[in-house]
Amino acid sequence: MAREKKIENYDVVIIGGGPAGLTAAIYAGRARLKTILIEKALIGGLATYTNEIANYPGFPDAPKGEAITNLMKDQAKKMGVDFKLTAVKSVELEGDEKVVETFRNKYLAKTVIIATGGRNRVTGGKNEEKYLFDKGISFCATCDAAANTDKHVIVIGSGDAAIEEGMFLTKFASKVTVSVMHDEGKMDCNEIAKEAAMANEKMEFVWNTVVDSFEGDDDYLKTVVMKNVKTGELIPIDCDNCFEFIGYIPNTELFEGQIEMTGRKYVMTNDKMETSLPGVFAVGDVREKWLKQIATAVGDGAIAGMAAESYIAETETFEAHIMQSAKPGLIYVYNAIDADSRAFLQTIEKIETDASGAIAVNRIDVYKSTGLADRLGIKSFPAVVTTEGGKIAQTLTAELTEESIKSALNL
Ligand SMILES: Cc1cc2nc3c(=O)[nH]c(=O)nc-3n(C[C@H](O)[C@H](O)[C@H](O)COP(=O)(O)OP(=O)(O)OC[C@H]3O[C@@H](n4cnc5c(N)ncnc54)[C@H](O)[C@@H]3O)c2cc1C
Repeated sequence: MAREKKIENYDVVIIGGGPAGLTAAIYAGRARLKTILIEKALIGGLATYTNEIANYPGFPDAPKGEAITNLMKDQAKKMGVDFKLTAVKSVELEGDEKVVETFRNKYLAKTVIIATGGRNRVTGGKNEEKYLFDKGISFCATCDAAANTDKHVIVIGSGDAAIEEGMFLTKFASKVTVSVMHDEGKMDCNEIAKEAAMANEKMEFVWNTVVDSFEGDDDYLKTVVMKNVKTGELIPIDCDNCFEFIGYIPNTELFEGQIEMTGRKYVMTNDKMETSLPGVFAVGDVREKWLKQIATAVGDGAIAGMAAESYIAETETFEAHIMQSAKPGLIYVYNAIDADSRAFLQTIEKIETDASGAIAVNRIDVYKSTGLADRLGIKSFPAVVTTEGGKIAQTLTAELTEESIKSALNL
C-alpha cells in the first residue's frame, strides 16, 4: 500500500537551491515568512561546478563557486529557512493554495518560487562526462574566457550564441577553432554575425563536423576528435579548452501547461518576477532573460523574496478587510497622482459618514500597487466596487457620483 505523504504548510516554497533560490530564501526568511527550499542535487546549483568565480562583486580573490554559495546557504539558515534535499516531482500552481510534492512530502504553499535553473545541452561525444566543467569543457565564455588568454580553444556550434561567444573568446585566446556541422559557409547564426566571424583572423572553421570523442589524461582535456559527417573521417584537434554552445535547456518540464513560457521553454516573468499565475514567481536562469550569471540570479531572488512577502500581505488584506462579509462594503479604487480621483475621496468620506457605520469602506491606491485592483478585476480608475456577504455585488466605473454609489449600496 502506498505510504501517505506527510503534509506541511509553508508561506513560501522555493524549488531549486542555486544562487537565485538561496537569495529568495534569504529575503523571504528575513521577512519572517515560513519558508522551505527544496533542492534535488547540490545546494549552490550550477555555481558549485566552477573553481573560480572572478566576476561576482565583493569577492576579488575569485573563490570557488561553492565558497560563495555556502555563505548564501548559511545566511538563509540564519534567517530560519528550512532545507530539504530531494527532488520536486509535481506541482499544482493554480489557486490560492499551491501544492508541491516530493517523493515523501506534500507541501501546501501560499507562494511558490521557481528557481530550477537549467542544464547545458551536450554533444554526446565519447568521454564527455569525464571533462565537463573544470576539466576542459566549458559552457560560459563570460566566466572562462580570461583563463584562456593566449590559448587555443575550440567552440562547438554555429548558432547566434556560439558565434557571439566565439567572437568574445577571440579577445583573449590566440586561436578559436569553430566546429560547424553544416557545409562550408553555412551557419545557424544571423548573416551579420557570420560575416564578422568569417572575417576574424583568429577564427578558424572546421566544416561538416560533429564531436566524436574527447581525449586527454585523467586531469584535463587535450584533444577533441571531430568526425566529418560526410566522409566519416576522424579529425583530432589539440586544444587548451573546449566551449560547447549547442543550447541550454531550462528545467521547466514540471511546470509545462501551468504557467506561460517562451517557445524555448523559459518561464515568462515581469520585472517583479511574477509569472502568469498569481503567487508564483520565477528567478534565475530558468526565466527568460538576457544575462545568466550569479549576479543576475541573486538580483532576481531578492525581488521574488520581497514580492512573495508583498503578495501574501496583500492576500491577507484582501481577505480580511476588503472582502469582509460583516457589512455591505464600499471599495474605492483610485490613483493618488490623479487630482480628480484624489478629490473624489471627500465624497467617499461623506458617504461613509452618512452611512453611520452601516457599511465597511476601503480605499485602494493603485499608485502604490495594482495587485488589489487586479484581484477585483479593475483596470480603469477611479472605480467603486460594492460587496455583499464577502462577494462583489457591483462595479461602477463611469460617472461616479454620490447618488450612484449610495443607490448601489441601497443607502
Ligand atoms: C561551469 C560554470 C561556470 C560558471 N561560472 C560563472 C561565473 O564565473 N560567474 C557567474 O556569474 N556565473 C557563472 N556561471 C553561471 C551561474 O552558475 C548561473 O548563472 C547560476 O548558477 C544560476 O543560478 P540559478 O539559481 O538560477 O540556477 P542553478 O544554479 O542552475 O540552480 C538551480 C538548482 O535547481 C535544482 N533543481 C532543478 N530541478 C529541481 C527539482 N525538480 N527539484 C529540486 N531541485 C531542482 C538544481 O539541482 C539546481 O541546483 C557558471 C556556470 C557554469 C556551469
